[in-house]
Amino acid sequence: METPKFTRVIETFTCEHCGASIEGNGYTNHCKMCLWSKHVDINPGDRAATCGGLMKPTAVENESGEYIITHTCEKCGHSKRNKVAANDNFDAVVAIAVALVQEVSTGSVTRAPLGAGQQTTGMFVHASLRPQTSIQ
Ligand SMILES: [Zn+2]
Ligand SMILES: [Zn+2]
Repeated sequence: METPKFTRVIETFTCEHCGASIEGNGYTNHCKMCLWSKHVDINPGDRAATCGGLMKPTAVENESGEYIITHTCEKCGHSKRNKVAANDNFDAVVAIAVALVQEVSTGSVTRAPLGAGQQTTGMFVHASLRPQTSIQ
């Protein structure tokens, strides 16, 4: 078999994390439902990595209006940043961001210096929209 350098690999795969059937478009490198990826590429699309570990979405950042997910391989620890695709489940993107903030605020990752009783839930909450105190 010949192996041309630039091949757009269109593949349909079953997510090994949530079991969803994902129709690839040639650029798909993660599950659009749960956003987990798989460690198969060294360079995008080359499928040259032999690791094959599942890659967990470990961070979500907003970079000039685009959301970037950081995937970390559970097997070898390799991490990689990927743009969120237009057809990705945005609820899952938000859920990851919220889960990360909760991990931080409950102290399981790092101790956040929060004031007593203060709930700072981070980037998706507009603190300024909330009245300081509301008594029913
Ligand atoms: Zn999935
Ligand atoms: Zn790996």
